[in-house]
Amino acid sequence: MADINRTDILHERENSILRKQDGFCSGNGMQCDAASVSGAVSQRACAYTGARVVLNPITDAYHIIHGPIGCSSYTWDIRGSLTSKEDIYRNSFCTDLRETDIIFGGAEKLTKAIEELIKEQNPKLIFVYSTCIVGVIGDDVDAVCRIMSEKYNIPVIPVKSPGFSGNKSTGYKMACDAIMELLLPHKTDEKVEGINILGDYNLAGEMWIIKNYFKKIGIPVVSAFTGDANYENMIKAPSATINVVQCAGSSTYLANRMEEELGIPYLKVSFFGIEDTTNSLIRVAEALGNEEARKKAVEFCSQEAAKMEGFLEKYRRNLQGKKVAIYVGGGFKAISLIRQFDLMGMKTVMVGTQTGKKEDYEIIESLVGEDTVILDDANPAELEAFMKEKGADILVGGVKERPLAYKLGIAFCDHNHERKRPLAGFEGVYHFTTEINQSINSPVWDYVKGGCV
Ligand code: SF4
Repeated sequence: MADINRTDILHERENSILRKQDGFCSGNGMQCDAASVSGAVSQRACAYTGARVVLNPITDAYHIIHGPIGCSSYTWDIRGSLTSKEDIYRNSFCTDLRETDIIFGGAEKLTKAIEELIKEQNPKLIFVYSTCIVGVIGDDVDAVCRIMSEKYNIPVIPVKSPGFSGNKSTGYKMACDAIMELLLPHKTDEKVEGINILGDYNLAGEMWIIKNYFKKIGIPVVSAFTGDANYENMIKAPSATINVVQCAGSSTYLANRMEEELGIPYLKVSFFGIEDTTNSLIRVAEALGNEEARKKAVEFCSQEAAKMEGFLEKYRRNLQGKKVAIYVGGGFKAISLIRQFDLMGMKTVMVGTQTGKKEDYEIIESLVGEDTVILDDANPAELEAFMKEKGADILVGGVKERPLAYKLGIAFCDHNHERKRPLAGFEGVYHFTTEINQSINSPVWDYVKGGCV
């Protein structure tokens, strides 16, 4: 770790934190994409919750949590993916494992739960999530799912996600493996000109905004994972020409598997901010070799960007020079946010992610200004220490970061699962800018500052 020597930083964490210095991009300097340090109280969620993040938005899937009832509390409530049709995904089903099940095994209880659900609800698709205790007692969840699939002729797919089996990224992979299990029987060589969107979860309806853009420029969307997805739509995905990856952290592994096993190449995109939205639409048209779509994308994006100019100018006056701290899930989102704050005239003084990769951190380091602190897999103590040191005016993060900001008496913007206003696309720029302005310039901070720190 470059020049950071603080008593509140664990020695084992030092290489996961760096400070931009002398305009120098450290390249290999960042330790990331690794297991969390034991006892460091990482902000990351467990592997099981990582898997739920990816699969839960599938609107007609039945999600059975094989484990204690507490694990099933991680449900739709804390991830507001919207649906245009079915809404069974808003429920969690759980085997509610108790002491006797743990002593004698829970496979029989799981079998009964699946049979009851099939008989009473007639599901098209079931996911069965293994939780920590199932990893400990060793129930053969694969065998139960296989037997149930064969008996009732529907996909009953195991998600191998005991919480302790890794971090949130491990859960993403397990969910991607489950999606591949669904897709592989539908492999086809007959392709249609169209794309799959991977890694968008239709939070506050963002998938609908992005799909609408593709419709405007004449690019068909074959399937989308997993925001507002359903079984019938998902199994069409193998016929798409390319995959477009929005949340790289959760879906690059799926994109790689789809490229290798289904022959669908991919490109990473971001629909956060004017610059990234514009570049993404143009790049997708170019990747398809669709000149007409490219021209339409250029025209559409310049019109939308022009509409935003006066609006951004007005808000820039309110936000100029404010300092922002960012702590989000993936590297691509952090990169988009830094660019958006640049456009608002704000300065990123701290930026971190839960699952960023080496290449993400290299881009982040090249974008931020001198002395910005960059962290991977941070814990609350580190976030608090650096926000105080850097004098951040606002923190952008998720539900676990919100109390940290309020405790320090600074503004907060939710850019995670619980957001209620779409932040993607051009509409997102409008919402994001007004939300940042409302939070940062709220008179409440004048009253609390100093009193709660
Ligand atoms: S860590 Fe284990 S017990 Fe806790 S929510 Fe995750 S799977 Fe359940």
